[in-house]
Amino acid sequence: MKAIVLNKTSPIEERPLEAADLPIPTPDDNQILVKVSVCGACHTDLDEIEGRLTPTRLPIVLGHQVVATVADKGKAVTKFETGDRVGITWLYSACGKCDFCQRGEENLCDQAKWTGKDVDGGYAEYMVISEDFAYLLPERFSDSEAAPLLCAGVIGYRTLRLAEITDGQIIGLFGFGASAHIVIQIIKYKFPNSPVFVFTKTAEHAKLAESLGAAWTGRSGDQPPAKLNKAMDFTPVGECVRDALAVLDRGGRLVINAIRKETPVPALDYARYLWLEREIKSVANVTRADAEGFLPLAAQIPIVPTIEEFPLTDANEVLIKLKHSKLRAAAVLKVCE
Ligand SMILES: [Zn+2]
Ligand SMILES: [Zn+2]
Repeated sequence: MKAIVLNKTSPIEERPLEAADLPIPTPDDNQILVKVSVCGACHTDLDEIEGRLTPTRLPIVLGHQVVATVADKGKAVTKFETGDRVGITWLYSACGKCDFCQRGEENLCDQAKWTGKDVDGGYAEYMVISEDFAYLLPERFSDSEAAPLLCAGVIGYRTLRLAEITDGQIIGLFGFGASAHIVIQIIKYKFPNSPVFVFTKTAEHAKLAESLGAAWTGRSGDQPPAKLNKAMDFTPVGECVRDALAVLDRGGRLVINAIRKETPVPALDYARYLWLEREIKSVANVTRADAEGFLPLAAQIPIVPTIEEFPLTDANEVLIKLKHSKLRAAAVLKVCE
């Protein structure tokens, strides 16, 4: 099968992703073999390529926003039939036995495996996964529309859950890429009385934010019209943590949706940035419950993902654009026509 593999970590500008011809994997008894239609590109792919998040092995096939059809299945598989359209997320498997798994926090499981980091992901024509970690996709979405729902969307949904918003609270979004442009649509639907302020350095992202209902747009470091009750930081930039805390109201919460920051979080003067019960919470990974909660909601709202499509062979160029905020929203790689 055709695939794009990462052989060694390096800056994306050196174009380290290379075409390869790999054997089609064979599903175990509990696994499905899926034929990949499209796979979303994600900032986490960049973190792996550039070594901020180390893949368990090299070479590896990246890609964890996979839209595919079931091509074959192991003999114990009961959830899917050949031909079903499924989505695959960052969570490839979890142990199911540890304390974290037992209380529904499989996103924190020590034994969990991550798609495209510990096992081969969706930058290839085929992949295998346990039937328990694949999801039927709402028919409303095309393959390309569904792709960004599977990471940007699901983890955005988790971020929103951890923010514990109540209707009417003032919300700030830092960064406005693939995840935030989905999150604002959930906020407008679930919390119609909450003004949303969007902090982005890109004029095109600010325009998109306004079209999706942002009450104000500015840059990280600017003063919004009012203090925030809840802030969500989607950027890879450490300084945004400080900037968000600077405009967070007393008792407010900052939720950080980033697996790695590319620049350090600056020193935080306690009295100015943290005192008065301001909280910081990071978001790590996703659970199956996040995917199962979000996908039907996305169809119900309905979320309209803004996507740009590219051939899989353009993966290096797409990720260079992503790194430099040159994409309008979510990048989708077309694997099989
Ligand atoms: Zn991702
Ligand atoms: Zn576990």
